[in-house]
Amino acid sequence: MAAKLLNDSKGSSSSDELFSHLVEQRVLSDRRNIISDRADKIAEVVYRSVIVILDKVSELEPRFTVSEILKVGSYFEGTKIDKIDEFDFLVVIKELSKSGAIHINKMPGPYYEGYLKEPGMVQIKLQDDDLKMKWKKYVVDNFLIGFQQLRDTHKWRQNMFGSFVLESIKIIAKTKHEWKDLVFDPGSNMFYYRGGLTLLSNSGFERVILKAAEVRHPNTVLVLEYDGSEISVDLSSAIRYDRVEDCFEAGDCVDERLAAAVLDRGSILLVAKQGTTFRITFTETEVKFMRDEIHGVHKLIYMYLKYIKSLYAKIIPVQQPFSSYMLKMVCIHHDIRCTTENKTVAKCLDEVVDLMTDYCENGDLQNVFNTRLTYLKIYDTESEYRLCMLDGLRTIKEFAVENPTEAYFIEVIQDVVEQSVKTYDISRKYFLEVG
Ligand SMILES: [Zn+2]
Repeated sequence: MAAKLLNDSKGSSSSDELFSHLVEQRVLSDRRNIISDRADKIAEVVYRSVIVILDKVSELEPRFTVSEILKVGSYFEGTKIDKIDEFDFLVVIKELSKSGAIHINKMPGPYYEGYLKEPGMVQIKLQDDDLKMKWKKYVVDNFLIGFQQLRDTHKWRQNMFGSFVLESIKIIAKTKHEWKDLVFDPGSNMFYYRGGLTLLSNSGFERVILKAAEVRHPNTVLVLEYDGSEISVDLSSAIRYDRVEDCFEAGDCVDERLAAAVLDRGSILLVAKQGTTFRITFTETEVKFMRDEIHGVHKLIYMYLKYIKSLYAKIIPVQQPFSSYMLKMVCIHHDIRCTTENKTVAKCLDEVVDLMTDYCENGDLQNVFNTRLTYLKIYDTESEYRLCMLDGLRTIKEFAVENPTEAYFIEVIQDVVEQSVKTYDISRKYFLEVG
C-alpha cells in the first residue's frame, strides 16, 4: 500500500514537472525574438528616436519640457511575448512634476465628467500664481486639462501635447527635406504614402524611419520602422506627484508588501484620461514588481496566459477574452496569496485558473493597488468567452499531461483553442446585444 502511494505521488510529480517544462519551453520559444541582441538594439534606437522628437517638442512648447522618459510596458517589464513590435513610454512633464506645483481634487469639479466617478480618478489644480499664468491656456474652470483635445475646435487641438509631437515631426521632416510624401493633419495624424522620415541614422543601413504618427487622446502613437520591423510606440504624458498619501491609502492595496512598495517609491504618476480627468497610476511600482519581485513561476504563467489569450484573439479578432492587464492582475493576486512550497507551473496554473473562474463567476477582479477599482462584469458579452478560455486551459493541460511532448503540446493547444471557440457563438451574442 505504502509503495503504491509512493509510486502515485512520484508519477504525478513527474507529470507535473513535464507539463511545467512544456509551458516554459513554449513561453521561451514565443520569446525568442524578444530576448535577443537585436531586440535590445531596437529598444535602444526607439528610445533615442523618442528623445529626438521630444527635444523638438520642448523647443516648440517649453511647457512640455520633459524631465523623464519612463520605460514602461511589457518589453521593459520582461513579460513581452511574440514579436518586438511595441514600446510604451510615460513622458513626465517637468514643470508640473516639481514638488508643490499642483494639488489634486478627488471630487467632481464644476466641469463635471462621468469619469471622475470612477475610483482612482482626480482633477488637478495648479498651486502658485506664476504657474497658473504660465499654464493658463491649459486650464479650464481652474482645472488642468490633460494636454489633449477638450473641445473640438482647431484652436484647442493645436495646443495639445500630441499636436506638438506632430508639429515637431513636420519640422524635422522639413529640415531633412523628407516631407515630400507626408500627409499631415495638424490635429490628429500624419503619415507617409511611401518612404518615411529618417529619425536616426548611424549608417545607410541603420536607419529608424518614421512612417506615421497619430494623436489618440490622451496618448500619441508613432509608427517606426527599423531593421525590417514595424514598431508602434506609445507616448503618454504624465505628472509625477510626491504627496502619495493624498491619493493612496495603504488599505486600498490588496497586500501590505505592495502598499509598502508604493509608499517607499515616494511618488505616483498622474496620467491624462479625458478632459480634466487624470488617472492615478502605480505604473513604476507595477513594472518593478513584475520585473523583479513576482515569483518566476507566476511570471511564466502570466506569459503563458497571454500566449493562449492571443490565440483566442487571433480567431475572433474583434474580441479577446481577457486583456493582458486583467491577466496581470490575476497573477499578482495569486502571487500574493500563493502558499505552495515547491512552486511549479503545473500546480500554480491550476490555482490561477480556479481563481480566474471565481473572478469571472463573481464579476469581480480587484486592481491590486486600488481594490475599489474592479474589472470583469458578469453580464459583459465577453464573460462566456472568458469561461471558454478557462475551460480551454484546463483541457490543454489534461491532454498535455497524458502525452507530454512538445510537438503534441503545440498541436493540442491549437486544436483545443479552435474547438472551444466553436462552442462560443459570437454571431448569436452579437445579435442579442444589438437586438
Ligand atoms: Zn503559485
